[in-house]
Order: sequence, then C-alpha cells, then structure tokens
Amino acid sequence: MSCQHVSTVAPVPPRTPKGCEDCLKTGSGWVHLRLCLTCGHVGCCDSSPNRHATKHFHNSDHPIVASFEPGERWAWCYADEEEVPLPRAAEPFLRD
Ligand SMILES: [Zn+2]
Ligand SMILES: [Zn+2]
Ligand SMILES: [Zn+2]
Repeated sequence: MSCQHVSTVAPVPPRTPKGCEDCLKTGSGWVHLRLCLTCGHVGCCDSSPNRHATKHFHNSDHPIVASFEPGERWAWCYADEEEVPLPRAAEPFLRD
C-alpha cells in the first residue's frame, strides 16, 4: 500500500445523508454513493450517470472516499487509485 493520504483525513459527518448532494439539487438519480472523508460531500459512483464523487475529487483535490452504501466498509484513494484501510473515525458516519 502506497497511499500517503488516508492517514491525513479527519472524517466529518455527511452533508447530505439522504443521497448525492449534486443529484439532489438537479433531481437526478444515482446507483451507489460515496462519502468524501475530507469534507463530508456525498457523491454518486462511476456507474451513475453523473459520476459526482469523481467530479468532486477533480474539483476539490479531496482524495479519499468511503462507500456510503448500507453495510459496506471500505475506502478508496483517487490519487493513488487503490483501496485503502477505512479510517476508524469514519465508521460512525457510514450506513448500517
Ligand atoms: Zn492516496
Ligand atoms: Zn450525483
Ligand atoms: Zn470533499
């Protein structure tokens, strides 16, 4: 594992626990959700029409997301394009 980013994030609560922040604004739909562990942005995955989680990474430079799907516990670094250990501090913000 080469990621130097995951140890630097301090997870915060999701800003839009009900779904993708950007899709909710436009009335769009999504497939899966990802939570930005830097700022709490909830965005939709690359299987979704609008790919807001990836767009958020490019717009913000926030590299680490966690799955925001019920029961899933994993994290991903966009900068290194690899799965990274889920920070323990993020767990309370994920969905059961
Ligand atoms: Zn990284
Ligand atoms: Zn979206
Ligand atoms: Zn962010």
